[in-house]
Amino acid sequence: MILIDGKKVAAELREELKKEVKGLKTQYNKIPGLTVILIGEDAPSKIYVKNKEKSANEIGLKSEVIRYPDTVEEKTVLEKIKELNNDESVSGILVQLPLPKHIDKQKVIETISPRKDVDGFHPMNVGNLSSGYNSSIPCTPLGCYLLLKKIEKNLSGKKAVIIGRSNLNGKPMTQLLLKENCTVTITHSKTKNLKNECLQADILVAAVGMPGLVKGDWIKKDAIVIDVGINKTDKGIVGDVAFDEVSKVAKAITPVPGGVGPMTIACLLKNTIECFKRSN
Ligand code: NAP
Repeated sequence: MILIDGKKVAAELREELKKEVKGLKTQYNKIPGLTVILIGEDAPSKIYVKNKEKSANEIGLKSEVIRYPDTVEEKTVLEKIKELNNDESVSGILVQLPLPKHIDKQKVIETISPRKDVDGFHPMNVGNLSSGYNSSIPCTPLGCYLLLKKIEKNLSGKKAVIIGRSNLNGKPMTQLLLKENCTVTITHSKTKNLKNECLQADILVAAVGMPGLVKGDWIKKDAIVIDVGINKTDKGIVGDVAFDEVSKVAKAITPVPGGVGPMTIACLLKNTIECFKRSN
């Protein structure tokens, strides 16, 4: 069984990106910049943003965090995004989710210029991805995809089953695997006999948020299993996959923590650089 080491792959990717930033600096005499807007005091959001800022600085990106209290008016945030859209030193804009209830998430997403949308949430990027055109790709599914490609270069004809249909994970993952010529089944909370669906999978991606949902006897022999889930339990952070059972059947599996998680931030840095390259 191959343990897919997301920490290691993410570190390698960051190293590549660091070199790329150096090269871009020489070529354009400027560096890509990432601006994150953080609203309120949500503890996990504060940690994510701190990690994003640290990682961006480490690879030589220009990085800025704009903080607002959770009482900030929607209008103020939208005006700031418009200002950043017109700021040439900003390559990528990310508004950390979740947002306070009085701020319309969709309005915020649609105000970010699609050219600077490092999260890949803007409807134009979502449409481009599903049409097979060049687009920003949401960071977590992009990370899953890069991990998969480390294990299996040619995914063509593979049967992929995705559990979860969120805009953040399941749907973009579907598009990425379709583009690789996989036959994709997307499942969700209303799917009948999930176990049977999973048993067909050469590639299984679980993005649900339910500890240990996927059991050992749901897995086809030699499947590749990507566990996106992050669940806080008494035993610490666990994924959506019952790792001890599934790792006995699968050909390769991502651990939680240390699998998909580290790839997400590395892919955010990658997206920032892609936005910079597209705008230059
Ligand atoms: P989400 O928006 O809540 O979506 C969960 C999906 O799972 C929904 O499509 C839901 O179906 C489906 N689902 C719920 N119960 C199910 C069941 N019993 N059987 C099959 N499907 C079921 O969640 P998300 O934002 O995609 O996040 C999913 C997980 O990934 C969470 O644990 C989250 O913390 C984690 N995550 C990890 C990273 C990372 O960097 N590793 C990044 C983002 C998220 P319906 O559509 O029918 O409701």
